[in-house]
Amino acid sequence: MINLADISLISSILDPSLAWIADAGVAVPEKLAAARIVAATDPQDTEIAFVPLFTTEVERISRLRKQLGPHVYFVAVIEGHRAFTSHRLAQLFDAGIDDLLDPSDAAEVALCVARSRAALRRRRLLVGENDELKRAHGTLLAAMNNLPSPIFFKDRDGIYRAVNKAFEIFFGKDRKDILGASAFDITAFPAATTFFEADRKLLAEGGVQIYETAVVRADGAPRYVTFYKSVVQQDDGAIAGIAGAMIDVTDRKETEVRLREAADRDFLTGLPNRRHFLAHAEAQMSVNRSNDRLSFIAIGDIDHFKGVNDRYGHACGDAVLRHVADILLARLGQGHLVARAGGEEFFMMLDCLSFLDATHLLEAVRSAIAKSPFDWEDERLWITASFGLTDVRRDERSLSSALARADEALYAAKHRGRNKVVGMETDFVADRGGI
Ligand code: GH3
Ligand code: MG
Ligand code: MG
Repeated sequence: MINLADISLISSILDPSLAWIADAGVAVPEKLAAARIVAATDPQDTEIAFVPLFTTEVERISRLRKQLGPHVYFVAVIEGHRAFTSHRLAQLFDAGIDDLLDPSDAAEVALCVARSRAALRRRRLLVGENDELKRAHGTLLAAMNNLPSPIFFKDRDGIYRAVNKAFEIFFGKDRKDILGASAFDITAFPAATTFFEADRKLLAEGGVQIYETAVVRADGAPRYVTFYKSVVQQDDGAIAGIAGAMIDVTDRKETEVRLREAADRDFLTGLPNRRHFLAHAEAQMSVNRSNDRLSFIAIGDIDHFKGVNDRYGHACGDAVLRHVADILLARLGQGHLVARAGGEEFFMMLDCLSFLDATHLLEAVRSAIAKSPFDWEDERLWITASFGLTDVRRDERSLSSALARADEALYAAKHRGRNKVVGMETDFVADRGGI
């Protein structure tokens, strides 16, 4: 058996990668020596190994292949191999040799050396390309890992094939548990289904896909992310998979929500503003209409409010506005819609079954305001407000005519001495008109 450690090493000024590897005492055959092949000085440097084999033991070849490693071009030097059957030749190659050489045939030696050198050149080229690829891959990975956004590549079956560090952190999983897995293995059901459906659509339609979705991060934080995905094609045009990046837009989204809320709210009282009221009341009106329910619109206005400002100052006026808004909110905050329309005027949409119910409700609100003392500095003020109420006619499509009627009713309340609720019921007006 050849033991590489026991090989007699003869120093060579020739190409050390071409080596005769044999047990001590087995000399380099004359024709190989003529082809400048000498015994290995160091088997580690060997790239093309000429190994004498006296038998065709398959096991021995396998063992040698293991010792030489996968990259060495392994030439079995066997005299008379031309007589081998194709079955035996196949066995030898299957066991691990790359080539066969009869050392007694000078022409074959020259041919084999030429073949070996060509193989060696190809191998060096491949190794060079491979190193280049490894370097490029390393650079790309370093760049990807430095980005704070999760980046991924999935094959066409939705299996993750490459991810960056940010992706591992976002999903709280190690690269080795992500690569080879699908979205269903790394994230919870609803998000995984979203990803899966989006991927299917993208693969079918090609191109680029951008969408926003909610994803729960590994630390439990709900995040809003924008996905940028595109189909990756191979050189031959076949689809390799999907490359994508996730940009966390949670902060922007939260700011948007805050701004939207702020745009709908009155800064002083915290009540919804006129804009919010008009949009929501109009929508509620059509819902009520389709459910065959009545809608009730009311306007409230603080009595002699100018006098409060004049006597106690603007700051006191503001506090009175908040005081009244608090009472309105406490009484009408649930189920009804109440807004500060501007100044000391409030719009309400009441969810009541009848005009009488709505009148009672407003009466209770009026009375609550009138009975709630408002303390300002050392004084106790008694604030009152007047209310105008109307119902929305069945044929009424827009809110403005109902608001105009409520305003008319409010004017009547003021006219009748303030601190009053005045109703203007459309059916009643119509009935009366019909008599
Ligand atoms: P009436 O009983 O007829 O309703 O009389 P009024 O004094 O309440 O009505 P008027 O419309 O004459 O006065 C409303 C005042 O409300 C005038 C305005 O300066 C004041 N006002 C409007 N907006 C604000 C506000 O945000 N804060 C304060 N403090 N005052 C305001
Ligand atoms: Mg007023
Ligand atoms: Mg007013």
